[in-house]
Amino acid sequence: MGLKKLSELNLQSHRVILRCDLNVPIKDGVITDDGRIVASISTIRKLVAANCSIVIVAHLGRPKGERKPEMSLRPVAEKLEKLIGTSVIFSESALGASELAKSLKSKQILLLENIRFEMSETSKDDSERLKLAKELSTYADYYVGDGFGAVHRKHASVFELANLMPHAAGDLIANEVEVLEKLTKNPSRPYGVVLGGAKVSDKIGVISNLLEKVDVIAIGGGMVFTFLAAKGFSIGKSLVEVDLIETVKELITRADQIGVKLVLPEDIVVAAEFTADSTPKIVRADQIPKDMMGLDIGPSSANLFALEIKKCKTVFWNGPMGVFEFPNFANGTRVIAQALTEVDGMAVVGGGDSAAAVRKLGFADQDFGYISTGGGASLEYLEGKELPGLLALS
Ligand code: AMP
Repeated sequence: MGLKKLSELNLQSHRVILRCDLNVPIKDGVITDDGRIVASISTIRKLVAANCSIVIVAHLGRPKGERKPEMSLRPVAEKLEKLIGTSVIFSESALGASELAKSLKSKQILLLENIRFEMSETSKDDSERLKLAKELSTYADYYVGDGFGAVHRKHASVFELANLMPHAAGDLIANEVEVLEKLTKNPSRPYGVVLGGAKVSDKIGVISNLLEKVDVIAIGGGMVFTFLAAKGFSIGKSLVEVDLIETVKELITRADQIGVKLVLPEDIVVAAEFTADSTPKIVRADQIPKDMMGLDIGPSSANLFALEIKKCKTVFWNGPMGVFEFPNFANGTRVIAQALTEVDGMAVVGGGDSAAAVRKLGFADQDFGYISTGGGASLEYLEGKELPGLLALS
């Protein structure tokens, strides 16, 4: 994909509208993981150094067109200010900020309120999105797209706005795409993929597409129980997507036919309730009691997954192996993260949530080959889908 590079635009002293992904987890007004803000800073600094005035457009959560105070970007503006060391002006509304944007001096930064407070940002109606994009395009002369976590969305500030203005990709998007290209074109082998997280439906496309490309694929997390159910095991009260059992059966058969090693857990940590203090118990994967639910892969499975990971020269991991938010069920995720840090090759952690998980467990970004900021975006890229936000920057 030939992305237009930042260096191809002469941005010196111009007004730039910059789409960032600042969608960070916030609890009680406090940012619990600032990874995406940190990842956005390189491009912002570059624009400041080029004497640009910068209007940042970003989203937080899924407010669906409503002004939800808990999804305000104000705490993000404060954090950004601290990280970057210069003041950040905050506009209470993304709309109607044209005059404010035009009044910015060289090197000044304006962050607009959550763009998803505007219903038309995510509208299915092309003309509504275009209308919003047209207003935003009056704020600046150039568009820089750097919100990798949103490039799989055909949203006004991601797609239409880029199309309306002279544009380029920021450093973050350029880096993300470079890594994903390495994963899709000639990865060093063995190539392994580890997938977890809550839902199979989110990952079925990527599993199906990657099956032909990888040597080994390991599955954990809540999604694994649909695989165990497909193998005919009883899974008790565990998470399951019944309508996908047949599809998963087909995947298992296909993996077998083409000789891809599909690694499933042989033991599971179960509990009676979905609570932090529920007593954990280790059982065989084919012996999950009826009144219990699987909340993590078991210790033998974690070691087995780790062994497979460490044999690989290229690894992509997305999705926790268990409910890592509860310490009793975080072991699988921790062991897998540790194994990734020991890979003799390229180890990529895909996704904002997976990245937040490894940081919460005490790992540092530099422990891994690369931490992607976009979960859904990187999965859709690996699925082979065309991503609107990248298309618009090509
Ligand atoms: P996702 O957004 O699909 O990557 O899913 C992440 C979420 O999956 C995390 O919040 C985990 O707590 C959750 N999760 C992982 N394993 C399980 C499980 N066995 N049962 C229920 N939820 C799980």
